[in-house]
Amino acid sequence: MNPTLEIFSQGEEIVTGQTVDTNAAWLSQQSVACGFTVTRHTAVGDKLADLIELLKSISQRADCCICTGGLGPTSDDLTAEAVAIAFNLPLEFDAIAYEQISHFFARRNRAMPESNRKQAMLPQGAERINNDWGTAPGFSLVAGRCWFVFLPGVPTEMMNLFHESILPKLSTRFLLQPGQLVSIKTFGLGESVIQERINLIEIPTEVELGFRAGTDEVQTKLLFPFAYPKTEMTALVTRLAEPLGDYVFAIDGLGEATGDLVFEIDKLMRDRKLTLAIVETASHGLLASKCVSYEWLLNASYEQSTARLGQNITTGDDINYLITTAKAMASNLQKNSGADFILVQLYSGDAETLHDKNQSIIIYNVLLNKDNCYQTSHSINGPIKRKQNQAALLTLDLLRRYLQNKSIN
Ligand code: ATP
Ligand code: MG
Repeated sequence: MNPTLEIFSQGEEIVTGQTVDTNAAWLSQQSVACGFTVTRHTAVGDKLADLIELLKSISQRADCCICTGGLGPTSDDLTAEAVAIAFNLPLEFDAIAYEQISHFFARRNRAMPESNRKQAMLPQGAERINNDWGTAPGFSLVAGRCWFVFLPGVPTEMMNLFHESILPKLSTRFLLQPGQLVSIKTFGLGESVIQERINLIEIPTEVELGFRAGTDEVQTKLLFPFAYPKTEMTALVTRLAEPLGDYVFAIDGLGEATGDLVFEIDKLMRDRKLTLAIVETASHGLLASKCVSYEWLLNASYEQSTARLGQNITTGDDINYLITTAKAMASNLQKNSGADFILVQLYSGDAETLHDKNQSIIIYNVLLNKDNCYQTSHSINGPIKRKQNQAALLTLDLLRRYLQNKSIN
């Protein structure tokens, strides 16, 4: 049985939704990866009584608890006070913490407000967690059956302290047997199609199969128990990935870290020192924005469809016209930009089809390099935002498939 862990976030702004509780999500991912079973997330406002009650109940039911926020100098920062009352551990002045806080201000040539003295008051017996990234130190203590860790709410401080001070302690305090999560990432296949394709593959009962469908990718996930033999793990993942074919753009959890579609393209473009220029239509700039800050993108432009392209075309001649146009645009751009790859995206459909969630458009992508020209076409439906996003991803996927030596159609 894995040890249990709860996460709680303190602050009125979390409860009211003004701040999205990214701390809890991040800490949860880290804790699960360490081998904890995360049992609960709670957000509490700046109410002393609520905090006290929550701390008391967590101390009875969880093995570990990580709390973020409420360590600041202001009157709404109540964590230390709540801990003191809940566990009958009076606040004591910590001279080292005080010195660190003073230093923090001195380094910035700022006078330390008297209110910051409050941050040097820690519950009796608590272990201080030095914070080189901000003013408030964190602290940890045992109460009931639970080891509590209190960290500042500012995400960067919290993450740094977690890595530097908490992670090393977790493995000495708890018997952690983390499972191994492997995710097969695909673009272009829906969850149900994936399910059908892998239906006949037998999955051992101790391995958990799950799906996570996002707008940009679908992940087929396998959670292997602790110490599962690596060769069997790889064999099962390979068996599952096989029927998903060239829709698979990355497999996470078996070795090298992977990212989204653009991340995978970026790796290959940088490795091979290649460059890209793009023309997009249906995606309205979204394609360029997905590649923003990557040096391999030399040139990006957005074109309104021409009158001819704006018509709903269905005949073979029209489609040929569209492809010929895309190819001509690509070869012009190749001359002008000097990029190794040119991507041109055109579509059939007018403004009305694009905006109407009940009508589809067809996008035509052309990829041109020094030697060859490749093309794809796809029907896209749904509201405009979905069409734009799918168009951008489908255009990029053509490049991804080429770079990964996968089939184009
Ligand atoms: P400080 O010393 O800065 O006051 P603190 O420990 O008191 O630290 P808070 O005052 O609760 O933390 O939050 C500081 C800032 O950190 C908030 O303005 C918010 O932007 C961010 N923050 C706090 N809690 C969270 C959270 N759970 N998720 C994401 N961001 C958070
Ligand atoms: Mg604060």
